[in-house]
Formats: sequence, structure tokens, C-alpha cells
Amino acid sequence: MNTVQRVFGAFFHLFYPHVCAGCGSDALPASSELCLSCLHGLPVTGFENHPDNPVEKIFAGRLRIEEACAQYYFLKQSSIQEVLHQLKYSGNRALGHQLGVLLGTALKRSERFNTIDLIVPMPLFSSRQRERGYNQAEILCAGIAAVMDRPVCKQLVYRSERTASQTKKNRIDRWNNMQGKFRIADGTPGRGRHLLLVDDVVTTGATLEACGSVLLEIPDVKLSIAALCFASD
Ligand SMILES: [Zn+2]
Repeated sequence: MNTVQRVFGAFFHLFYPHVCAGCGSDALPASSELCLSCLHGLPVTGFENHPDNPVEKIFAGRLRIEEACAQYYFLKQSSIQEVLHQLKYSGNRALGHQLGVLLGTALKRSERFNTIDLIVPMPLFSSRQRERGYNQAEILCAGIAAVMDRPVCKQLVYRSERTASQTKKNRIDRWNNMQGKFRIADGTPGRGRHLLLVDDVVTTGATLEACGSVLLEIPDVKLSIAALCFASD
């Protein structure tokens, strides 16, 4: 790097600082959104290698899935909380792509996900996506696709409208209220495929279950699930 590049780089950094999305340190590789300490400190679950892992248990008896996993444990007051916040609310797309690549790498190494045909992001309401400017699950999917070499299908399933206020509804009403909000688009290429439904966080699994049950109405379809984080309430 010559002097001009160094001066320009320092000047650029002053106005557009490249800092770690986990801890704010500026000691990180130019190609990464996380410093090495945060990257290696992410609380990996290893679920992708284990049938009957805690994410699969969530859906047992509720949703007919092939495989399911989440890449990291969600821990409050930790770098993963900050990372997730930046992905969901701060528009850090480069971070989302990097996390998608990490998730895709784990899925590819695990032979349990090697029959996936299509990668499907959990849809947002179109109004929510307009407000936010992006869908974080789509960004994760692009990173996964880059590693697994499978197409992303954003048009397969969508949310038809904002879910009405759930506060005065009981559990069954809430479920019906949620389930009715997902629709399969006409003429989609899901038939006979093994779909990987991707979301940022799995907690109770209610949204993934509602979306997944609609996807399973496609003839001869198989469904697996991958989330970035697992929050165990
Ligand atoms: Zn860091």
C-alpha cells in the first residue's frame, strides 16, 4: 500500500469507520464485519449435525419437517445480541451476507441438508419490508446460496396482510390469525422440491410453523428449516 492509498484509507475510515458489528473494535479484516475475537466467540450450536436437536424438537408433532437447525444460541447481553440487532434494524447487509455464508458453510458440511433444492426466506409483510428497506432473511439466504449453490426463491410464499392485534385473542385464535396470513404464489416452482425455509431467529417456532404448514400444501414438497439463532425463551 503506498502513501496515497494509506492517507486516503485513513481519511475514508474517519468518515466511514469499518468497525466490528459485535464489539465496535476497528481491528478487523477489511473483508469481515466481525473482528476475529467476536467471530470465534459466536456461540455455535452444532445442531446441523444432530437429529432430534432442540430446534427439531420444537416442531415435533407440529410440522412435517425433514431437518431443522439453528446456527447460534441467542444470548442476551452478548455480541450475538448486537449482531442480530444490526442485521434486523441497522441495515448491515454485509454482516447479513457474512452470517449467511457461515450458516451455509455449516449446512454444506453437514450431509443432512445436501438434498435441498430451493432456499426460501421467511417473508415479511410488504409494508414492513418497505419501512425497513430489506428483508433480513433474504440477505441470509443470499449468503447461504453462495455456499450451497442452490437458488433462492423469494416469490414462493408471501404474507397477505399485517396480522391484526393479537392481544385479546386466545392461543388457538392467535394460531389461526397467524396461519391465515401466509399464501403460496400461483405458478411457483416448489412442486416436488426440498425447500429450506430460512429465518433469523427461532423461539417458539409459531411463525415458522404457520409458514411451513402453508409450504407443505405444495404437492410432493419436502421441508427443512434453518435459522441463524435459537432463543430458548
Ligand atoms: Zn468484535
